[in-house]
Amino acid sequence: MMAQYHALKAQASDCLLFYRMGDFFELFFDDARTAAQVLDIALTSRGDGVPMCGVPAHSAEGYLARLIKAGCRVAIAEQTETPEQAKKRGGSKALVARDIVRFVTAGTLTEEALLEPRRANVLAAVCEVRGTIGLAAVDISTGRMELEECGPDRIGAALARLGASELVCPEGWDEAPLDAIGRPTRDFSSDSGEVRLRGVHGVATLDGFGQFSRAMLGAAGGLIAYLDHVGRGNLPLLLPPVVRDGAAHLAMDEATRASLEVLESSSGGRRGSLIDAVDRCVTGAGARQLAEDLSAPLTDIAAIEARLALVQWLHDDPLLRDDLRAVLRALPDVGRALGRVVAGRGSPRDLGQLRDGLSEARRLRDHLLRRADRPALLDELLPLLGGHGALVDLYARALVPAPPTERSQGGFIAEGYDHALDALRATAGNARRAIAALEAKYRDETGVAALKIRHNGVLGYFIEVPAKHADRLMAPDSGFTHRQTMAGAVRFNALALHEEASRIGEAGGHSLAAEEAHFEELVAAAVSQAEAIARTAAALARVDVAAGQAERAAESGWCRPELLEDPCLEITGGRHPVVEAALGAKGERFVANDCRLSQADRLWLVGGPNMGGKSTFLRQNALIVLLAQAGGFVPAEAAKLGLVDRLFSRVGASDNLARGRSTFMVEMVETAAILSQAGERSFVILDEVGRGTSTYDGLALAWAVAEAVHSNNRSRCLFATHYHELARLADTCEALSLHHVRAREWKGDLVLLHEVAEGPADRSYGLAVAKLAGVPAPVVARAKTVLEKLEKGRAETGGLAAGLGDLPLFAAALDAAEEKVDRLREKLEGLDIDSLSPREALDLLYELKRDA
Ligand code: ADP
Repeated sequence: MMAQYHALKAQASDCLLFYRMGDFFELFFDDARTAAQVLDIALTSRGDGVPMCGVPAHSAEGYLARLIKAGCRVAIAEQTETPEQAKKRGGSKALVARDIVRFVTAGTLTEEALLEPRRANVLAAVCEVRGTIGLAAVDISTGRMELEECGPDRIGAALARLGASELVCPEGWDEAPLDAIGRPTRDFSSDSGEVRLRGVHGVATLDGFGQFSRAMLGAAGGLIAYLDHVGRGNLPLLLPPVVRDGAAHLAMDEATRASLEVLESSSGGRRGSLIDAVDRCVTGAGARQLAEDLSAPLTDIAAIEARLALVQWLHDDPLLRDDLRAVLRALPDVGRALGRVVAGRGSPRDLGQLRDGLSEARRLRDHLLRRADRPALLDELLPLLGGHGALVDLYARALVPAPPTERSQGGFIAEGYDHALDALRATAGNARRAIAALEAKYRDETGVAALKIRHNGVLGYFIEVPAKHADRLMAPDSGFTHRQTMAGAVRFNALALHEEASRIGEAGGHSLAAEEAHFEELVAAAVSQAEAIARTAAALARVDVAAGQAERAAESGWCRPELLEDPCLEITGGRHPVVEAALGAKGERFVANDCRLSQADRLWLVGGPNMGGKSTFLRQNALIVLLAQAGGFVPAEAAKLGLVDRLFSRVGASDNLARGRSTFMVEMVETAAILSQAGERSFVILDEVGRGTSTYDGLALAWAVAEAVHSNNRSRCLFATHYHELARLADTCEALSLHHVRAREWKGDLVLLHEVAEGPADRSYGLAVAKLAGVPAPVVARAKTVLEKLEKGRAETGGLAAGLGDLPLFAAALDAAEEKVDRLREKLEGLDIDSLSPREALDLLYELKRDA
């Protein structure tokens, strides 16, 4: 057995091996140690000292879920023959054959119990072809597959958007993230990728799906090869690949997503995230679609308006919205049921879910078609909800109303679907009734009132009487044959009982086989229409998202944003949905604030005390942009938004030590990315950039960054800072204006008003904030003395920013630098190198160096 174990373990490589033994999965050696620790179950050892632990096969899913969560991967080795078959094959001592039937990994799950209903589960693969990275991503629980291509500098942003639970890349690839799974390089060749994709979709050419680059094909090939490996040749549902167009989506990098807490809060988890505050979807599929919308907002006004019009329609008609949501709430997760069915892991219950989901979808379509005033997006979606009449009818006839999850016991094919099956069931039923009648008859004959006919897995049907009455049945001519003597009872058989029991057994076996055959046919019927079913599921999700957005908007008086091409940002009465909800829970009120950015006034410097609401103000405006371009209403009284192509959010010196870089380094790396990428259509929020270093460094950097964003990037920008000195930027930057969050001292206490007002912050309230935070009074008093001394010094020397008055303008300084470079270039371009003597070349070099 151990030899067989080791052979399988070698195939499982770094996965834990679940080795099936009867009713248990056993783990040995290091696998056992890992599993025992993660699962908190007893580690035992075999007679020969080999460490082992085990989990019951019938409840293996729960254990698998915990192992996967803990980052493990598992290979499942099943018995591929029965002990009887093994004996027939190799004698009484023969070992039952086993084989790995599947690998269970985080990115390749389809089981309901292992998946989170409201989160997509993405498997991604990357492949580099001559400096270009191809990325393939699939959610195999629903089959959606997306391909894209990007430069090496954008891969981090792309992966952050996908939030993949597993990433596959070519073995030995230098850029591979730490937790990526390395796979043979040959799997990633673009040729084999193309062949695999064609094979999966049964087409001779991929032209019908779109144009794919070599890097994309390589990534797709690596992905499919991995799925093939993990499923042991059983491929899951894969819909035709869609090429993702980066320009069609609002670009956000990893740091921006994290700092805006789009899908996860900074403490990890969904609580406190944007999606948590927005999501009112009533289906898991809707919630998954919303997460995708928020991860990839749009940049096309027409597409955004189409979504908004549907939200508005449902917003304005609460009765319709309630009806719709009630119907959706009762829907099964059609997409995921389909995913399981196609992956060969479907149950009769999954088929029942397809039947119920698709027939409800059709009803919903008919209901909505009656409304003449429906928005255009519905005209696209409604046709997708129907078209499954034949399949639904087939399933309605074939399946019982509530099919079981377990298919091996049968009982899921409805009466009337197959007359032969009905006849078999009738035979079995008659025989069961006959057995019940036999019990009465035997009681009469023997006079033993306590006589019972019972059934168990080992003996089948038998007659049981209490031991004290057994003699009456023991007589040779009684017609009963002895089978087993128990402590207080004796068991018998009888000819008539045996005959009826065989009838049941035979009919049962045949009907199981018949049901099994029907199951395969029913699965095949769904598989042949997988794409259309997936489209229906996606359309239902889209309707749910719109209804949820409408519901959310109605809940707290959100408005429909107006989108323009002109780069402005005019928000009246804007609010932060997450902070507002948190305050609401404490019974406090959120103070709404306006924001008005335009080409002529594109950078707002926001000052004011700590805790005054600067960060909240910055973020709420970024979130409003994000929500609007995702096609939803926004938490404001009114919002006019010029389309944003890239959104950046940076927070000075956040705690990011986990990544092994100093916080200040991280801050600067992230800031550098903005300065190189943001443009006139971008929106940037910078929160206390420069905070992570010494005062002079910090001020100098904040100054230079603000200037650069203003004059060079020319993006719309909100810049929060506690450096008063930056206010002087307003003198030189014509499109920069000063604002502050208001605070007041009242009877020696600080009152934060959370109102954004025009003008520079009048003073710093650091000491008042310290007092508010509970810093002991003597310390605050001491700080006051120190401050007075410092401020006196400042008055005498002109302060931190003394001498900045004669600083040339940022743009002018930049122009001068560029001019120099250009003169150099001119000179170089005018050279005829071949005509130079070595001596002349050397002189020229000296000259160039002097000019530079
Ligand atoms: P800062 O960035 O100025 O230090 P924050 O934006 O972090 O301040 O806000 C601090 C706290 O003040 C928030 O956690 C919130 O409780 C409260 N707050 C911020 N903005 C508002 C607002 N507009 N209305 C009500 N409370 C607010």
